[in-house]
Amino acid sequence: MTSQIKILPENLCNKIAAGEVVERPASVVKELLENSIDAGARDITIEIEKGGKKLIRLVDDGCGMDRDDIFLCLERHATSKISSADDLFKLQTLGFRGEALPSIAAVSRMVLRSRPPQCEAGMELLLDGGEVKRADVCGMAPGTSVEVRDLFSRLPARRKFLRRDETELAHIGEVVTRTALAHPDIQFRLLHNGRALIDVRRAEGLRARVANLLGRHLASDLVEIDAAGPDCRIHGLISPPQTNRATSGTIYTFVNGRYIRDRVVQHAVLDGYRTLLPKGRYPVVVLFLELDPELVDVNVHPTKHEVRFRQQSQVHDFIVAGLADALRESSWVSPADPGPTPGAEASGPGAVLPMSEKTPSPSGTDRQAEIRESLQRYARTPSPSPDSRPVFAMPSAPAAETVEEDAGFFSGLRLIGQYHNSYLLCQDGPDLLLIDQHAAHERVGFERLRAQWRQGGIERQSLLFPPVLEFSHLEQCRLQENLEKLGRLGFELEPFGGNAFVLKAVPQLLSGSDAEQLVRDVAAELAGLGSSSLIEEALDKVLILMACHRMVRANQALTEAQIRALLKDLDSIDFSAQCPHGRPVMHRLSLAEVEKFFHRI
Ligand code: ADP
Ligand code: MG
Repeated sequence: MTSQIKILPENLCNKIAAGEVVERPASVVKELLENSIDAGARDITIEIEKGGKKLIRLVDDGCGMDRDDIFLCLERHATSKISSADDLFKLQTLGFRGEALPSIAAVSRMVLRSRPPQCEAGMELLLDGGEVKRADVCGMAPGTSVEVRDLFSRLPARRKFLRRDETELAHIGEVVTRTALAHPDIQFRLLHNGRALIDVRRAEGLRARVANLLGRHLASDLVEIDAAGPDCRIHGLISPPQTNRATSGTIYTFVNGRYIRDRVVQHAVLDGYRTLLPKGRYPVVVLFLELDPELVDVNVHPTKHEVRFRQQSQVHDFIVAGLADALRESSWVSPADPGPTPGAEASGPGAVLPMSEKTPSPSGTDRQAEIRESLQRYARTPSPSPDSRPVFAMPSAPAAETVEEDAGFFSGLRLIGQYHNSYLLCQDGPDLLLIDQHAAHERVGFERLRAQWRQGGIERQSLLFPPVLEFSHLEQCRLQENLEKLGRLGFELEPFGGNAFVLKAVPQLLSGSDAEQLVRDVAAELAGLGSSSLIEEALDKVLILMACHRMVRANQALTEAQIRALLKDLDSIDFSAQCPHGRPVMHRLSLAEVEKFFHRI
């Protein structure tokens, strides 16, 4: 009887390995970049067509491969980087598995060219599905060029999982950004369909590189961190708490020069900012952790995005302490200041200067005055939907309760006062109502924005002094792609060369917010939505985010007039007792519940 078990042919092994290593065009770019950096390249150009589905071409000026090596590098487990198991624990290179080139070749059409500086000419190999079809001598500058065409074209099942060109391109942009952050001494260029998306020259250190990649204004805000412990060191640039973002996408962490997305490190970073950032906001962090290669295992996952630390909790605590120290040392953290909130920031170059108002000052009393004024303005505004009858469905009062049309349910409540600078206490007949002032304000903003959107577009406020806002390359792409949608959302942006835009108008309802933060957050949210057909469905998410930038927060003392204005606003919207985040706006305690608590019934 013949054996049932077979050894698989090499080419099939490579296709299987490609399943792990090559998920999408960006994974190809990542592997090729790592190889170029390991080869000592100082200048790397990546050309992309159709989000990398049609073409990925990387050209470097590294050490190149000679005639023997160029054939060998396509063999499975062929690497120049390690030769024994011991080497795995002393890794100085990004690659070591010897899998990338054969895996990529197996799922594409590849042209590989390479010439070491000491050779007169280069070698060129043409491959199809991993098989060498032609090999020739070629003229070329020293270095290596890898051309990957028609990725997954023979594997429709894999190709199906690829997203729109723009999405794949955004992933590639991220890979290049991460790599370029870790190597300021290397020049990187990323071209898509002939247009330069990233073009960073060799830079003088990390801050200059961050300025080129993520924006000069941001780079100048960031604070240096450098702390050494017995076994490790962290260094890099981190944002002060008032510079924050809506997603964790700007937390770049590296272990021994390798970009990683590690749970322990991510947790430690957020822990370092604990209490300094409002909920749901993230810092901008470019943080390098250096430690003895023996203390960290990078061979945990084929894409090498995860690592395993020998001393996990020590590493965690070291990062937390390092960040907390750096943040404490800097003058912008005062213990009395509970930390800024995204909507409450109105200073800095990105701040909005509405035509009708003076430059908002960051001082507390001015902020109060501003809020008071804006609330009074709301109170004067006629209700946009006078016919909406507030209907409540609440846990303690499931029977729907309707209110006289002209009285206004909320305006008609007896106001008892404000509790803990965060909740309004009101009486409705025999019942006690608690209203979360922040949730209520957000809800009002959200409903008004949605009503305006449905009526054809959100009302704009032109800015007297339109600020010039600077963005990262990736953000710039997102904005450019979404200019029209942003216009309908109330943002008038005009390209200003490079990665800059002039902000000419903002949604009127949000005219007191930090414009730069707002535009950035909305652009990030739009980018996350993916296909444009989904925009209507997903729009609520964007409007919620915008409403969050409005001004009344928890922990804010309100005058009676301000409270009345807010209650009146609540009457003007179609209401279902939930803030847009799904948190309740109001809680009702019936007299019976209160009496039962005190054992009176
Ligand atoms: P690994 O990087 O894990 O060694 P790869 O399959 O990515 O495996 O590459 C195989 C080998 O090919 C590398 O070890 C290196 O010797 C050589 N190589 C790949 N890319 C380049 C390049 N751009 N320049 C010089 N040598 C390269
Ligand atoms: Mg490699």
